Amino acid sequence: MINPIQLDPDGTLLVLTGAGISVASSVRPFRGQGGVWTDDPEAERRATSPELLHRPDLIWELYGPLRPLMRKATPNPAHLALARFQKESGCDVRLVTQNVDGLHHRAGFENVIELHGNLLRSRCSQCDLPPFEDAEDRPRPCPVCGALLRPDIVLFGEQIPEKAGEAAFSAVMRCDHFLAVGTSGIVFPAALLVQSAFNYGAATTIVNLEPMDPPSPFFQREILGRAEEILPLLLEPPTLKPSALL
Ligand SMILES: [Zn+2]
Repeated sequence: MINPIQLDPDGTLLVLTGAGISVASSVRPFRGQGGVWTDDPEAERRATSPELLHRPDLIWELYGPLRPLMRKATPNPAHLALARFQKESGCDVRLVTQNVDGLHHRAGFENVIELHGNLLRSRCSQCDLPPFEDAEDRPRPCPVCGALLRPDIVLFGEQIPEKAGEAAFSAVMRCDHFLAVGTSGIVFPAALLVQSAFNYGAATTIVNLEPMDPPSPFFQREILGRAEEILPLLLEPPTLKPSALL
């Protein structure tokens, strides 16, 4: 039995999602069971090498082949439940994601805050060319400055984009309920966001396959299981009372 999250009609929900929400969409996580790098330690070594930051050609070599797989992936019931709740609940629903698969956006969620960028977009490795949806998966020159384009994701050793970081913290200060899904509650960024939300007085919930070890004192409710099974039950938009329909 999953009791739905209770919010006032003018309440604010902030959701943080990680790799666990996209597993049912056949998007492999980078780390952990079945992870892209768990099966290929050499790829992980290259992905975390400082050299990568200066070599757009190598970024393409590593991440280019993942793009067609992400294009084929489709949003699952967890992504859809979040998008539906944003549309139908009447509440202010914000979403911060660590994922680079773009599935929240494709499910219809509006204004996703992407902490780690989006693998299906490209940007210039040098100039301020705005990131764009890219149908090609190979290195080529920027139309403005001629430097190489690169996938618009945050690499190891790079900062979270300033705008996304600010948006996440401004949302955390204002939320009535903080919900983490498919991410460990005890490492960055979930650990930091939940602590802030808790200190600002929000209720806090985590949905994940694995129990937190050690348990975080800042999550009041832990629900263990698959996001695609739990979120449709947890995010039940408030239904109109029969009297309101008359
Ligand atoms: Zn450029």
